[in-house]
Amino acid sequence: MTVYLVGAGPGDPGLMSARALELIARADVIVYDRLIPATALDGARPDAELIYAGKEGGGPSVSQDDINRWLVEHGRAGREVVRLKGGDPFVFGRGGEEAEALVDAEIAFEIVPGITAGVAAPAYAGIPVTHRDAASAVAFLTGHEDPTKPESALDWAALAAFPGTLVVYMGVRQLPAITERLIAGGRPATEPAALVQRGTLPDQRAVAGTLETIAEVGREAGIKAPAIAIFGPVAALGPGLEWFRRPPLTGRRIAVTRARAQASGLAARLRALGASVVETPAIRIVPLAGDAPDLARYDLLCLTSPNGVRLLFDRLAAAGRDARAFAGVRIAAIGPGTARALAEHGITADVVPEKFVAEGLIEALKDVPVSRALIARAAEARDVLPDALRERGAEVDVLALYETVAEKLSGDELASVAAADYVTFTSSSTVRFFLDAAGPRLQTSTRLVSIGPVTSETLRERGLAPHVEAERHDIDGLVDALLADATSEP
Ligand code: SAH
Repeated sequence: MTVYLVGAGPGDPGLMSARALELIARADVIVYDRLIPATALDGARPDAELIYAGKEGGGPSVSQDDINRWLVEHGRAGREVVRLKGGDPFVFGRGGEEAEALVDAEIAFEIVPGITAGVAAPAYAGIPVTHRDAASAVAFLTGHEDPTKPESALDWAALAAFPGTLVVYMGVRQLPAITERLIAGGRPATEPAALVQRGTLPDQRAVAGTLETIAEVGREAGIKAPAIAIFGPVAALGPGLEWFRRPPLTGRRIAVTRARAQASGLAARLRALGASVVETPAIRIVPLAGDAPDLARYDLLCLTSPNGVRLLFDRLAAAGRDARAFAGVRIAAIGPGTARALAEHGITADVVPEKFVAEGLIEALKDVPVSRALIARAAEARDVLPDALRERGAEVDVLALYETVAEKLSGDELASVAAADYVTFTSSSTVRFFLDAAGPRLQTSTRLVSIGPVTSETLRERGLAPHVEAERHDIDGLVDALLADATSEP
């Protein structure tokens, strides 16, 4: 039984430590704070108990006693407990108090340090907290309390005299009083100062001024918590050393309507570009029962989706067969995703069209001799491909491997649709099921992104024109098209 007090870093998920990720993946219980990276809990076990211990600014908050009690109770019950905190657990994180409570209860614990916001937020704004020429010392302090109160725990006169950089946590509200105190204590009013809000996150903002002006500069810019204030000559280095570029989809809310099991790749791509992604899966793939086909009877096998590849292999495996069943048959994949799924099984598709739609495949097969073809696909799909092959005199069997059914969206998921800047559609079935479930919630300002002409046509049939259609009809193409739309001048 061990309780781990773990730092999750300042916000950028890439700044979480390997040790933190490993412990999150193992934990039975995770007690987490508000200021942890948005994806910090993605790697948790599906059956892990997740307990929110956040303290909303001003709002109702969980008491420190409650948190200590939870850690002790779960630890005592023999569970692996991760107490996940923003930044570092021992830097203004009350980790010390939690460790003391565990010592008192004789529960074993470990500390996993994290990258603290007071170093990371300045770094992402190009401000080195120490510098050989400009600062040989740095002090971290909390600006939480009103410095004009006599009971203030901080000696502001001593801090004013501190020979180095001052880094202030939780200081936005008290900024006017803090800067006044420091000036009164003898720090030059002209000393460089900077504020970094939501440092390391895609919507990070930084402003610069002097000790005298920074409170007003911050107020005018609307800087809010969480923010770090930096006082000292190093604060002037920020503009020159600023390296952090805001990712291009920052501030855009994008709904992904793919099946939950497949949404993660697209969602991760969009998040990496700065978007806030809402997963509103409209469909679910339900495998259909059936025998494994005898592929040796065909000279052409057409696969029209990665799901089809996966489920065909499942059927073969259930019959005790493997990739050798594909020997001798020519294999056509509708697009690169399907070809990749085949490649994972060691099979290279013979034919992949330039346009990733049935019409493209028909064109690509134009000069390929076909006498017996098997098309493995969803139960409900267009018949252009079988029809075209039959017209050429081929015998065609269609093998339905799965059905696409509606996924039920939660109230929260439905509500998030109204706030979406973009909704992405990766197939006709996502269009149909999404509009059935969430159509009335769509705002007219929301831009609809379609993966290709077939999906666009389904949108039009429902009276909606796509604003963006991918040129390449796969996930990469869809992301490129959305990005181009989001970054073009209005
Ligand atoms: N243990 C945390 C600090 C918790 S106190 C750490 O080591 O970073 C909370 C304060 O941290 C906030 O009020 C703000 O001043 C600062 N903070 C946390 N995340 C931040 C971020 N991404 N950018 C700027 N400041 C941040």
